[in-house]
Amino acid sequence: MNKAKREVVIAGNWKMNKTPSEAKALIEELKPMVEGKNGCKIVLCVPYVDISAAVEAAKGTNIRIGAENVHFAESGAYTGEISAKMLLECGVEYVIIGHSERRQYFGETDETVNLRTKAALAAGLKPIVCVGEVKEERISGITDEIVSMQTKLDLAGISAEDMKNVIIAYEPVWAIGTGLTATPEQADETCGVIRATLAKLYGNEVAEATVIQYGGSMNAKNAAELLAKTNVDGGLIGGASLKPADFTVIVDAAQ
Ligand code: PEP
Repeated sequence: MNKAKREVVIAGNWKMNKTPSEAKALIEELKPMVEGKNGCKIVLCVPYVDISAAVEAAKGTNIRIGAENVHFAESGAYTGEISAKMLLECGVEYVIIGHSERRQYFGETDETVNLRTKAALAAGLKPIVCVGEVKEERISGITDEIVSMQTKLDLAGISAEDMKNVIIAYEPVWAIGTGLTATPEQADETCGVIRATLAKLYGNEVAEATVIQYGGSMNAKNAAELLAKTNVDGGLIGGASLKPADFTVIVDAAQ
């Protein structure tokens, strides 16, 4: 399999933005702009409280809804948390796991990323597992080791069969929300390192079939160049996903 045969997934990460009424308005605006653009999967990962409005607004369109996190337990005494089964019943299909903001501010570790990924898969959700190096790690020349280690730990115990539903997002932490973007070459190279790690874990067939996105200040101006790279199968997009016109340009670049 080669890039042309892999799915391209353009996913927005709204982070902690938009109330339910604002979510509805944004999707209503976006719907006609991306209608019929089926050359890529379009996913919007929204805050928990927006899910119901987002699912309703996106019904019957080519926009799919995702969440921004999920707990690893099926149920129980975890005040404030949300399970995979709850998300599924609300119409969620995808879920971001291990975003760098969760790792940085909420104590997320590779161990909990792994548990959440397993819980999401067991419930039938498609996890978007985020990996990426911080600035000091890139400067020290250990990016490859870091993303390879995260990939191995985050996917520990996950079967080749389950990998059909896993998306990996390579998100260099220094490029998230900073306006700094990895060059297309850097993005391609590091997504390639992740693919090589998958090949060691699961063999070439799984590695070649897995969708690996780039995320980190992807925008209307740089998307086409990034998405053209062999190992980049889509994008996880923060800031630009809140602007329908910019997000549509990215979707167009992925067609
Ligand atoms: C993100 O939140 O995953 C992200 C990549 O954000 P931004 O596009 O704003 O850098």
